[in-house]
Amino acid sequence: MLGRLRPKTDLRTLIALLAITSIVITLANTLYATWRVQRMVLIESTLAANRAYATKLAATTELFFQLAQSQLHYSANQLGRDFDNPEVAQQEVNRLREQTSSFNSVAVVDSNGVVKAISPESLMLKGMQLTSQASREALALRQPLVSKPTLSAANNLIVFVSWPVWDREGRYLGYVGGTIYLKKRSILNALLGDQFYRDGTHVFVLDRNNQVLYHQNSQLIGKRVPGIVSDREREESTNGEVQLSEEGGPKLAGYAIVPTTGWMVVALKPTDVTLAPLSGLLLQVLKNSVPFAVLTLLVAVILARLIALPLWQLARKASQMDTQGVSVEIGVIRAWYFEAAQVKRALLTGIGLVQDKIGRLKSEVQSDPLTGLLNRRGLSAVLDYFDTMQQPFAVLALDIDHFKRVNDSFGHDVGDEVIKQVAGTLRHSARQTDVVCRSGGEEFLMLLPASSTEEARVIAERVRTSIAESWIDPVGQITLSVGIASWQPGQHGQDHSLKQADAALYQAKSAGRNCVMIAGQDALVSSITR
Ligand code: GH3
Ligand code: MG
Ligand code: MG
Repeated sequence: MLGRLRPKTDLRTLIALLAITSIVITLANTLYATWRVQRMVLIESTLAANRAYATKLAATTELFFQLAQSQLHYSANQLGRDFDNPEVAQQEVNRLREQTSSFNSVAVVDSNGVVKAISPESLMLKGMQLTSQASREALALRQPLVSKPTLSAANNLIVFVSWPVWDREGRYLGYVGGTIYLKKRSILNALLGDQFYRDGTHVFVLDRNNQVLYHQNSQLIGKRVPGIVSDREREESTNGEVQLSEEGGPKLAGYAIVPTTGWMVVALKPTDVTLAPLSGLLLQVLKNSVPFAVLTLLVAVILARLIALPLWQLARKASQMDTQGVSVEIGVIRAWYFEAAQVKRALLTGIGLVQDKIGRLKSEVQSDPLTGLLNRRGLSAVLDYFDTMQQPFAVLALDIDHFKRVNDSFGHDVGDEVIKQVAGTLRHSARQTDVVCRSGGEEFLMLLPASSTEEARVIAERVRTSIAESWIDPVGQITLSVGIASWQPGQHGQDHSLKQADAALYQAKSAGRNCVMIAGQDALVSSITR
C-alpha cells in the first residue's frame, strides 16, 4: 500500500520547477511592465506631437489672416485718397489679387454696397449691388472683418476678409474686401488642405460652429459635426489634447485655435496606428531577456542539484541502512547545510552505536601495521565521526620516556618490540568504547568518549602504573608520560583539544616524566613512583 503512495517527484525537480516558475513569472512581469510603460509613452508623445502640429498650423493660419488684413489695410489707405478714380480702384484690386495670391477675388465696394472695381473682372459684378450677409455686415459695422465661412451661390465655401475705407476727413466710403474660396487653390488651401496625411496623422479644420472647413473626406466639408471638445474647454485654452473614441476606433488628437477666426485645427492619429510598433518592441524585449533567463535557469538547475544532492544521497542510503559499511558511506556525504547535517546525524545515530562504528573502523585500512592500533587516518575518521555526532570526549596524549636510549642500547628491533608491548597494554587498559591510536613513533593518543577529565585521569593513571610496573625483556622497566585534555561540542575545534593534550604531555615531561598532567592544571596528577 505504502509503496504505491511513495511520491515520484524529487527535491531537485521541485527546486528546478520553482526556479522555472519564478523566471517565467519575472519574464511575464517584465513584458507586461514594458508594454504598459511603452504604451503610455507612445500615447503621450503622439498626443503632444499632434498638439504641437496643430498649434503650428493654427499659428501659420493666424499669420496668414493677419497678413491678408494688413494687405487690405494698406489698400484701404491708398483708396481713401482717391476713392472716386475707377482706374486706381481697379489697379488696387488687381494688384491685391495677383501679387499676394491670398485671395481668389478682390473687390472695392462703396458705402451703398455697389461694386466699384473687382478682380477678376470676369465675375462681371462691377456696378452691381452686393447683398450677401458678409457685405451687409461689413457696411453695417464699418470695421475690419473676417466673415464666418459661408456657402456661396455656386456651392463654394468662402471666407470674406474686409477692411473699411475712410477719406481724410474721416468719412466712411465703403470697404475693400477679398474672398477666399476654401476649396480652390490658395495659400490657405495649401496650408491647411494638403496636410491630410503624415505618418498616419491627418488634419481637419472646424469653424466656430463645428462646420467642417477642411477634411480629407471632402463629403464632410461644409457639414456640421460634433465638436471634439466642449465649448467651455474651447473657450478656456488655445490648444490641448484629447483621446477620442470614434466609430472607426479610438484616436489621439491635438488641437489649436486660430485666434482671428476662432477656427480649430485638429491633428489626429488612430490609436492602433500609434501603438503598432509596440508588438515589435515587446518581441525585442523578449529577445533580449531570453538569454539571461536561460542563463539564470541554468544556474538555478545547477544550484538545485547542489542543494538536493546531499538529501538525495542520504535518502538513497536510508533504504540501505542494514548493509555493511553504509555508515562510512553516509559519513562521506557532504551535508553542507543545516537540514542535511541533521538528517545525516539522525541516520548515523540510527545505524548503530558508537562502539559498533568504531569496531568497523578498526577493522579497516585505517590501522597501524606494527601495533594493530588505529593510525592517524583512522583517528581522523573517528574524530570526524565524533564531530558529526557531536560526541564529547577526553583525550590522552602518551609518549614513552627516554625511548632513544632503548633504541641506542638494544637496537631498533627491540625498540619496535617495546612499542608493540606498550600498545598491547594500552589496548587492555582501554574500555570498549575508547579509541587507541598510534599517533607517531612511540607516541599514542586515546580518545575516551563521553568521559570527564577525572575519568580520563583514572584511566591514564591505570595505564601509567601498569607500564611502569611491568618488566620488558631485555630492556627492563620503562615509563611513559601522559597529557590530558577534553573536547565539548560547540566549544572549540578538536585540533585545539589535541594540542592542549600535547602541551600537557610536554609539561609532564618537564615535570620529570612518568607522570600525568591535565591541560590547564599546573599541578601534577601523579607522583613519580620510581
Ligand atoms: P622523551 O622522554 O623526551 O620522550 O625522550 P625520547 O628519547 O623518547 O625522545 P623522543 O620522544 O623525541 O624520541 C623518540 C625516538 O623514538 C626517536 C626515534 O629514534 C624513536 N623512534 C621513532 N619511531 C620509532 C619506531 O617506529 N621504532 C623504533 N624502534 N624507534 C622509533
Ligand atoms: Mg616522542
Ligand atoms: Mg619519548
